[in-house]
Amino acid sequence: MIGCYSGKTWTPFLNLLEKLISPSGRDLADHTISQRKKGLSFLCHFLAGIGNKKISSLKKDIALFLNHSGTSDNSIDALANMQVSSTSRENRREKNIISAIHRENVAKDLKTYQNTAIIANIDDYHNIHGLRIPKTTSTSSVAHMTTVLAIPLPAVHAIPKNIGQNIDGKEGCVHNPLIVDCESLISQIESRYMGLLSKSFNDRFAKKFAPFDNDLLDNLTVHCYDADIREKQKERQLCDTFLIDLINLNLHSTEEYIKAMQTFASFPEFEEYLRLNVIPLVADWPGQIHPRKAITIQQQSSRKNMHAGKIPEFVSSFIPIMGPLHVSLNSRETVVLLFHSFFNSAYKHVFGTNKTLANKPRPWRINLLLQLMSDGWKTVAPHITDKLEASCSRDVEYLTLKALLDDTIPLVLNFYATIFRSGDWEAYIEACVRVWCLFARFKRKNYNKAPLVFLSDVWYWESIDHPILKVLKDHLVVFNDYPVENFHSLIRRQTQETDTSKQLSNTAHVINYLRHDNVFRRAFVTTKRYPYSKQDLTGLTNKASIFLLELFSEVKNNVGKSKWAKINQRGKRRHSCHLASLQMDVDERHLPMAFSSEYPPFDPSEKCHLQDSCKLLQPILDNSNFQVLMKSISLPCGHVYHQCCLQSLEYKCFHCLKYIQSEVTNNVKSITSRITDQDFGTEIEEEEVETVDNDEPDELSEQTAFNLEAANQLKRTLEKFMKI
Ligand SMILES: [Zn+2]
Ligand SMILES: [Zn+2]
Repeated sequence: MIGCYSGKTWTPFLNLLEKLISPSGRDLADHTISQRKKGLSFLCHFLAGIGNKKISSLKKDIALFLNHSGTSDNSIDALANMQVSSTSRENRREKNIISAIHRENVAKDLKTYQNTAIIANIDDYHNIHGLRIPKTTSTSSVAHMTTVLAIPLPAVHAIPKNIGQNIDGKEGCVHNPLIVDCESLISQIESRYMGLLSKSFNDRFAKKFAPFDNDLLDNLTVHCYDADIREKQKERQLCDTFLIDLINLNLHSTEEYIKAMQTFASFPEFEEYLRLNVIPLVADWPGQIHPRKAITIQQQSSRKNMHAGKIPEFVSSFIPIMGPLHVSLNSRETVVLLFHSFFNSAYKHVFGTNKTLANKPRPWRINLLLQLMSDGWKTVAPHITDKLEASCSRDVEYLTLKALLDDTIPLVLNFYATIFRSGDWEAYIEACVRVWCLFARFKRKNYNKAPLVFLSDVWYWESIDHPILKVLKDHLVVFNDYPVENFHSLIRRQTQETDTSKQLSNTAHVINYLRHDNVFRRAFVTTKRYPYSKQDLTGLTNKASIFLLELFSEVKNNVGKSKWAKINQRGKRRHSCHLASLQMDVDERHLPMAFSSEYPPFDPSEKCHLQDSCKLLQPILDNSNFQVLMKSISLPCGHVYHQCCLQSLEYKCFHCLKYIQSEVTNNVKSITSRITDQDFGTEIEEEEVETVDNDEPDELSEQTAFNLEAANQLKRTLEKFMKI
């Protein structure tokens, strides 16, 4: 039976046509047949529908679609004369009508969900489409807008703000009166996660989430928000999400965030909901810090029975939650920028020596490089560790590369794409601890605090048994900052750079209105593809493996040559190290955690970093296991301990624990003073990863030949490597 526009009386006629488009003896793909059927059905309706009212809704859809794709009014009117679409004037009128009833529609939606848990996304939107972000001089014409989205969880009851006494006599508010609880952070990390950190990310998770690469293309497109990319279409559809509003607002200060939250509170129908319940606000860093500041000051003054001043009560109906997508985006970018010269060498090796990696590569290339290195490493890691562990395990360069390839890269690749999206709560919390350790070591501002604030809240809710924790655990994947990015990509595609804020709002309203049914789009718009196929990636991954084998051969030749030097930088004494094979100057941010601790493992001859407390310095009891117990074990952090010393520490690295404690303390101190600071002045938070360089996909040489050659080359390189 032909497509979606057929009625009963048509059946015999359409069946006849159906035979015509798929005559027997010709094998057509199902997809082609269904596409032809849809086309035929449309044509029949157009033939019958000239001047017919029933067809006009389809014509409206077509006009809206053309308009959204940037087609000029002239062209739309030409098509309208051909009876294919409605006119541009009708289209404008249609858009205005939709926009005018937007508020009514939202009020209806909010009413539908008045007993349902709702999550919010708040993010800023600017109408610059190209790659270049202009500097301050030319920004006057740029419309600064704010998007507020509501994401209902239809099966989940609204999350209460306060809980009364439960069976254990616990009661409390969703907001921790201690704001960020340093003590609980330290004790939880020490007792639950410190031991786990004695294993690298791959040792912990590679098997559990194996094979990561089932969703390879999907993982690679994780930061491409284009709704038409085929690899990720399901997630990209907005489903239950709806737009509260797109308003003309610049999200640069706490007050502006309060205005954004006000969009919810401005619906009288929703007052009761906000009085009793809390809306998790999943956002990027500024979207966490500003609302939290407003909430904290409001809560403190209400506790003291003071007038909260200019802060309205509704702010406490929101609880900021760290957006995992932004953590992923920022961690990936930080790693590639910090190790730029490593990735540049890899890039040249894989794609050709005449290539140079852009100073600020675009997210899709960052993903590709990280993925190639991660997969390349998996192939050769057993050979490399077998061959080099004995002779190189105390070499700074070897330690640095191993930590990068076996821990850092897989962590940033899988934090959001695999672990968060799997919904595995325990794994996600561990990944949050790990990613915080990384940001702390990198001294990455703001993100060395965001995971701490989130973890502190989680452990607070656990201690008072707040129901929000169960919702988080059971529906982790919905606590995502992805919907707003997707929505922005839809707006960007359907507007011009010159659009006014009013036009942008109108378009957003129309997208929201049509979110379930632009029939024309659903039936006919083809999807884009990621520039490389799985096939392409096989050859590229083999090239990455070859790069790593050759690099590690050099590392072996250069053992002991990577030396430390004390340098004076802006009056501060710091350490710097020149890595001999990579020819790259690095500091403690690049090196494993041990080098950031109070006891960096500079002396490779030391057998145990427990120093005076080493168990072997104490009288040894008669123990048949002596040989095993005195074996030196290298941890991924770069410290070494005797097996027996490590056991006595419960596998918690003594020096790194001290480092982590001091990092938690300092970061919590700094974040608390920022949150409680009464000054509301404009505080610009740098957040967005901006891409400037022209960075288009590389042409690959002829596929089969390329893959075959790469495979042979890898075989030869591996044979050579095994002989070193
Ligand atoms: Zn020892
Ligand atoms: Zn350590």
